[in-house]
Order: sequence, then structure tokens, then C-alpha cells
Amino acid sequence: MKVVNTHLTTCYMCDRDATTVEHAPPKCLFPEKKDVSSQKDYRKNLITVPSCVVHNTATSREDEYLLYMLSASITSSDVGLNQFLTKVKRAAERSPSLANSMLVSTDPMKIFHEDTQEWNDAYGIQIQGKRLDLVFIKNAYALYFHEKRKKFDGRVQVVTGFTLYNELSVNSAIASAVTAAEDYFSQHEAKGDNPDIFFYKFEEGSNSAILLMNFYGTSKVLVHLDKR
Ligand SMILES: [Zn+2]
Repeated sequence: MKVVNTHLTTCYMCDRDATTVEHAPPKCLFPEKKDVSSQKDYRKNLITVPSCVVHNTATSREDEYLLYMLSASITSSDVGLNQFLTKVKRAAERSPSLANSMLVSTDPMKIFHEDTQEWNDAYGIQIQGKRLDLVFIKNAYALYFHEKRKKFDGRVQVVTGFTLYNELSVNSAIASAVTAAEDYFSQHEAKGDNPDIFFYKFEEGSNSAILLMNFYGTSKVLVHLDKR
């Protein structure tokens, strides 16, 4: 959390003074230089919004939880996996109980890989979706503020495209919603200077706005913002 000495503006979520700047999405998702073998800088021009202390720190645990879930996800790219093997592993070693509380249950399962045509062992992690939604909702407010330089006023709905539910019908409904959004946004500009880690696409209509977020190249989150 970076503290800034300005009372000129209010928080992106509430009417308190913005005395800090908050990263959207959380900074911990972006690899530090020491964890990257190539010379690549994955922390170029990170997006920040003015924030009060309360909102900036409200989801610190959830931010870290999101890093766990995204980087451990079966859909994660190499750079996501690298974050898991470096940063997440260090955090888990520092605090094993925290790591255990995040990975609530890990069930052994088999996953079929299309490219190699082989079944491989994997672990299914039970995801605490509500905790992830808290971060995505804040991200949506922050990116809306970043786009429009004003607070979003309304209702936010999140569809997480990288988790699997026990209901097959739910999974296919989510998959088609995400695919439809990708088709819709196919000609839109991808925003964010570190697209291997995160980029988003955004469009605002008169009554609502749509936000499609992409983490580590593969994990997609669709957000619908319903204006009041
Ligand atoms: Zn606030």
C-alpha cells in the first residue's frame, strides 16, 4: 500500500479522503524482477486508483488468496505457474497455516490433456468463490474509476470463468457467457501494459457496462456493472 499525501480527492469506492493509492488488480499478481528469469518487467505502469485506507486494506487476505487460486489453476500459463512456484511457495513456507486455510480441500483427480492426449494426476482445489468475488468486485469498481474518472454507482455481478462447479450445466453456461463476451470484445483494445499477467476490455452503455478481465493469459472473469 502506497500512502500519498493528498486530500484533494475521495476514495474510488466511498466518500472518505483518498490518502493511499490502490493497485487494480492487486500488485501481488505481478511477478517481481527477482522471480523472473528473463529480463522481462511485469510491473510496467500498473494501474492505480485513489483509495481510502479502509478500502485499500479491506481485502489484503483475499488478494493473496486470488494469487493462490489463479496461479495454481489448471488454466494458468507458464508465467502464472512461475508465480506459484516462487512467490506463493515463499508465502506458504512463511505461513503454512495460511496456505492450508487457503487451499481448503485438495481432491486427487485425473485431468485429460488435449495436446498430449494423456491423463495426468492433478488436484482439485475447492474454491471459496465469495472471497474471490470480493476482489473482483473491488477491481471492477477500480477499473471503472480508472476508465471514467468517476465512482461507479450500481450493482456488480461477477462470472468467474476459471473455476469448475459440480453442476455440468452451470459450467457450460459460464463457458458460453465468457465465450460470447470474448466474441463481442474481439475488436476491442486490450488494456494494461503487462498483458501476460493482466489485461481488460471495457465497454459502457447507457444503463450498464461490461468488463472482461484476463489473468495470466488464460483465466477470464466477466463482470456486469448495472448502473442505478
Ligand atoms: Zn473507501
